[in-house]
Amino acid sequence: MGALEDQSALITGASRSIGRGIAEAFGREGAAVVVNYHSNEDGAEETVEIIENEGGSAISVQADVSDEDEARTLVETAEEEFGSIDVLVNNAGILEPATLDEMDIETWDRTISTDLRGTFLVTRFAIEGMLDRGSGRVINVASQLGIKGASELTHYSAAKGGVISFTRALAREVAPDVQVNAIAPGPIETDMLDDTTEEWRERKEAEVPLGRIGTVDEVVPTAVLLAGEGGDYYTGQTLSPDGGDAMH
Ligand code: NAP
Repeated sequence: MGALEDQSALITGASRSIGRGIAEAFGREGAAVVVNYHSNEDGAEETVEIIENEGGSAISVQADVSDEDEARTLVETAEEEFGSIDVLVNNAGILEPATLDEMDIETWDRTISTDLRGTFLVTRFAIEGMLDRGSGRVINVASQLGIKGASELTHYSAAKGGVISFTRALAREVAPDVQVNAIAPGPIETDMLDDTTEEWRERKEAEVPLGRIGTVDEVVPTAVLLAGEGGDYYTGQTLSPDGGDAMH
């Protein structure tokens, strides 16, 4: 029997990379999975197929998490389809590096809207059902940059720092019924790092105590832990599969 048998989970941004890895693992652990995506329908369908081929149950739902109506509909669809959302993983995020002196206001707004407001919106709508049922888990994917900050990423660092503070505040508000935790990965080999230079990678590898960029498979077990029985005594925490990058 899987760790998430008879549970249903909504994972935002699960069409690829970290979100897909978490969706697949949750499916294998027995959860019915709602695979949210923004524009990559094929990717989301592929995630669903992988879960179904392994005997699991999943659907894909398009929604921009930064849009109030779309976030509300996403949560309603998930609840209608699988009865409830037992585990919500706020994973959707974007990263568009720019120095502050050259940053468009739109770039700042887009990052905060997706990475922070999106987490707030989906949680805002999903928390009602969790509180009504007296149980639930929220897992927010932050970043080690929300702890240590990074040059050219003031907007991203601010959003992810906000996600960590949101996690702590909400954990206090909804305890003991709902548990709220964050994951703050270090640099992870995904599409998000596609535009980085060789020079950046070498610098980053030298900076991370474990000396390398991590993989999706090295982040996923933390989400499984926090969603399942192993996470029973965690709330308000930020766990960091980051090769020692932030050490908070
Ligand atoms: P990724 O490969 O760029 O994938 C991003 C995912 O988010 C995609 O599924 C994308 O959907 C979805 N998304 C983007 N904007 C969205 C929106 N407005 N509404 C709904 N979905 C949206 O990123 P990743 O590396 O897997 O990152 C996943 C999370 O981990 C992010 O929150 C990121 O900040 C965090 N993180 C990543 C790293 C890293 O080094 N990779 C490190 C620390 C933290 P579409 O495919 O449909 O566009």
